[in-house]
Amino acid sequence: MPRARCSDELSTMHSKTTKPNSAELPVMDSEEYRKWGKRIVDEMSTYITNIRERRVLPDVKPGYMRALVPDHAPEDPEPFTNLYSDLEDVIMPGMMHWQSPHNHAYFPALHSYPSLLADMVANAINCIGFTWASSPAATELEMIVMDWLAKMIDLPEHFLHSNKESHGGGVIQTTASEATFVSVLAARTEAIGKVLVELGVIGDQAREEQARYDTFSRLVAYCSNQAHSSVEKAGLIGFVRLRLVDSDENLSMRPDELVRLIEEDRKEGYIPFYVCATLGTTGSCSFDNLEEIGPICKENDMWLHVDAAYAGAAFICPEFRTFMRGIEWTHSIAFNPSKWLMVHFDCTAMWVKDSQALHRSFNVDPIYLQHENTGLAIDFMHWQVGLSKRFRALKLWWVIRSFGVKGLQKHIRESVRLAAKFEAFVRSDPRFEIPAVRHLGLVVFRLKGENELTEKLLKKMNSEGKVHCVPASLKGKYVIRFTVTSQYTTVEDLTRDWSIIRTTASEILSQTPAGEEHRTRVFLKAMRRRIKGMLMAGKQYSLDSRMDLVTTLVSSAKTANGMPTMRENSMEAQEYYERGEMLDSAVQTDDMCSPRSRRRSKSVDDGISVPDLKGVTLDDSINEADLEEECSSSSSSSSPEAETRHSTRQMNGRSNSCHQCGATIPTM
Ligand code: PLP
Repeated sequence: MPRARCSDELSTMHSKTTKPNSAELPVMDSEEYRKWGKRIVDEMSTYITNIRERRVLPDVKPGYMRALVPDHAPEDPEPFTNLYSDLEDVIMPGMMHWQSPHNHAYFPALHSYPSLLADMVANAINCIGFTWASSPAATELEMIVMDWLAKMIDLPEHFLHSNKESHGGGVIQTTASEATFVSVLAARTEAIGKVLVELGVIGDQAREEQARYDTFSRLVAYCSNQAHSSVEKAGLIGFVRLRLVDSDENLSMRPDELVRLIEEDRKEGYIPFYVCATLGTTGSCSFDNLEEIGPICKENDMWLHVDAAYAGAAFICPEFRTFMRGIEWTHSIAFNPSKWLMVHFDCTAMWVKDSQALHRSFNVDPIYLQHENTGLAIDFMHWQVGLSKRFRALKLWWVIRSFGVKGLQKHIRESVRLAAKFEAFVRSDPRFEIPAVRHLGLVVFRLKGENELTEKLLKKMNSEGKVHCVPASLKGKYVIRFTVTSQYTTVEDLTRDWSIIRTTASEILSQTPAGEEHRTRVFLKAMRRRIKGMLMAGKQYSLDSRMDLVTTLVSSAKTANGMPTMRENSMEAQEYYERGEMLDSAVQTDDMCSPRSRRRSKSVDDGISVPDLKGVTLDDSINEADLEEECSSSSSSSSPEAETRHSTRQMNGRSNSCHQCGATIPTM
């Protein structure tokens, strides 16, 4: 937690700034800028190098900053050194460290050194490239890099600026949400325009106006129920009705459902005009099938937009392009190089097949924005909602050139390889399940059983701030999304994070009724085996051994009857032990493995009836291998329903624990 500054401290800070010595406190000049610029580049480099040392998630409460910053702006200049020191004191404590290899939340939001340097330059130039004339280099570079990128992901030719046969081309938008919104607006203009032509009202201003608004109110758009919320938002602010299409078992939009809804809406008098397909959904990175959806859109004269916000970057690798089959059917597509391609935020690449549709939607052309080359060159202000435009092409250009296509492909493939590694970790622990196929760098997983268990796991993991994930809901199943985000992530990072997740899961399971129930079941099953072994062996056993067995049964009966379950290393467990009410093998604790715990349990003659064990013998023939083979019990700790086998390869003192799920298996 950042240390709150007391009001005295804050007012001292403030008085320092209200009585400046102007000779001492010059506003930053170019010398200072050089000095600080170099220092900040140095320190940011250190920040990135040492990022693992910071908690991923901040430990602050809403409003934390109020106590650290004066409540009004300084009247006079402050020395930059004050500003800079506030970075560590005020800002960093409240930062989530997105670049940390232990951040697995959302999708990646990567940067890279060439990208950061490019923006230093772009920010210094700070051109506002709304028209070609306002900064020809900015516009031309954007056209060139957008063509490069289109070729890198093998988009059809009609999306290229350089293709003289089409009106297509690429533009950098701020976000994927904005790209979706732009596509809705363009599709809306096109749909309304067609209806006006069909009605023959063009030119008759009153009828045209009336028909325009009538048509507008009948438009309906579609996306799958797995689509990002930004599609819903685009519908909301674009004033169009949006229908969610059911998804199939692969979490892909169901084409038959799409057709059904379109037909239903047509019958009701609506005009289906737009479909947003997702390549790489936020919840599970599932893919809609463009080869199926494309022809439906064509047949119904609908605009097909593709939101590939995260997954689009992967298409630079030919092996992942199967996911984009059918792309030739689409009218527009967008993905974020600012997610996975190491071009820092903001940078969304959007291509349209026909830029005229954008022009028809956004062209207002006031006289003060016209220039000598109007109509001859692209003015990107007609391709976006806002007028002003940042010079983002430079960072995209520098990143592509610095890494080369091969370097970028390597980066993508490495993230996918690491995600597959993490998937293997999860699969090795039967307490967990992976309810949706892993695609690319996103693994979704959950504890078997009730959603509540996974919710608790995530909450606890995040509260400790060492590893950060966010949830998703997949058809009613609460899942944790684990994305390999950083280009600095190593197998060691994943191993460490997985270990934290497993340990946290053990804690959650040991505290939940499901965990208790599971432990009891595992335990009783093992006890049954033990008795069976005794009966079958036909040997005589010592009184001590028989007493052990009885005591164990008694203590397990108490647990099963709703008594609080004894937790590992708990005082409660120790007390039980001291009172002789617990057999050392009944509850697995590390303490129980200590020499002190190796005493035999005391007698159980205070009121507990002892079953007749005459002739009952221990079966020393039950060895570790037998147990491994035969010890199967109901599921992992989290799910009483599912079946799993417990293995005792890892012996833990006198108590064995299943090396897969950690469940306690009493020993003889
Ligand atoms: N679409 C999908 C599939 C996403 O996963 C996301 C965000 O992760 C978005 C859209 C929104 O992206 P942006 O923040 O660029 O608007």
